[in-house]
Amino acid sequence: MEKRIDVGVLGATGMVGQQFIRLLENHPWFRLTWLGASDRSAGKRYKEATNWRLDGEMPAGVADLPVHECKPGDAPPIVFSATDASVATEIEQAFANAGHWVISNSRNHRMDLDVPLLVAEINAEHLRVLPTQQRLRGWTGGIVTNPNCSTIGLVMGLAPLRQFGIRKVVVATMQAVSGAGYPGVPSMDILGNVVPYIGGEEEKMQTETQKILGNFDADRIAPMGANVSAHCNRVPAIDGHTVVASVELETKPGVEGLKKAMAEFAGRPQELKLPFAPERPLVVTDAPDRPQTRRDALAGNGMTVTVGRVRECTVFDYKFTALVHNTIRGAAGAAILNAELLLEEGYVQR
Ligand code: NAP
Repeated sequence: MEKRIDVGVLGATGMVGQQFIRLLENHPWFRLTWLGASDRSAGKRYKEATNWRLDGEMPAGVADLPVHECKPGDAPPIVFSATDASVATEIEQAFANAGHWVISNSRNHRMDLDVPLLVAEINAEHLRVLPTQQRLRGWTGGIVTNPNCSTIGLVMGLAPLRQFGIRKVVVATMQAVSGAGYPGVPSMDILGNVVPYIGGEEEKMQTETQKILGNFDADRIAPMGANVSAHCNRVPAIDGHTVVASVELETKPGVEGLKKAMAEFAGRPQELKLPFAPERPLVVTDAPDRPQTRRDALAGNGMTVTVGRVRECTVFDYKFTALVHNTIRGAAGAAILNAELLLEEGYVQR
């Protein structure tokens, strides 16, 4: 791409917003020129408005950028959204209505029938619903979402198994504290503790998985028929959500067949060699004690999901453990990959 495209970040001061800032530094296609946050931050420079929480220094190129209110107007045509869910519906719709493409991490529009819930490797064809979205809503822009940070670990493990017919899935998560944003879970609640409840998370995992693994059918996305049951837990890890799943399949490929299908899994981002596409979206390890959050969450710069402990299940057919970096593959990195796909597939004009 000869000229970089200006992009913005809504919710730029938050945990996911900061990952966007970090990941967009030196992006070959995108140049970050516009930042939005709440009226508490608007009017300040980014370095004054932001409590930088990521490792390393805040990128110098953004430190002096002004923070705006999250209102369309002079924002660039593509905006990444990491705004608080309490305000994301109105903000994202206002931008789409004003002709912007909103690539969103928030839950608000994920389950809307005319909004793609996109995992670039898994359901790129769901983007075909976008003309319907524009027609129904009268928008000149649009909204594309990416899934919940734990859902993505599960669906990446399940996507290669679609060929064997997925019947039932039972999944449990061990989710890092960064998934709750900043300041998130109080330290007194999480240090040396496990909390067996994350509000709304189990429902999100169950419904989002159905939609992502469903089929695009004429002008709608028909959900996958399989039954999914989730248990979600918060654990004292900083980054990296661990997902353990048992699956029942129509045909039984054997453990080696399952591992082969997972290891060979790839999608449009790999075919198109998109800048944020990891060489391998899934890595399968045979080490008996991996994946581990501290050692594996940053595989493929945080864009690769590591799967291990693939084995037979005595109740269903097979079980496995998957680890996803929740603020990279589970949020900002996934959204950047989605934006690259939209451009490369011609849904958004350069
Ligand atoms: P966070 O750290 O709490 O950040 C929230 C952001 O929203 C801040 O930039 C905040 O700006 C902004 N904001 C709050 N009220 C606003 C308002 N009235 N108008 C405009 N902006 C407002 O949260 P987070 O963890 O980054 O999550 C952001 C979104 O991504 C959420 O919808 C979350 O569900 C989703 N998500 C998070 C993860 C994860 O792993 N953390 C993963 C996937 C998806 P101020 O600083 O000015 O208050």
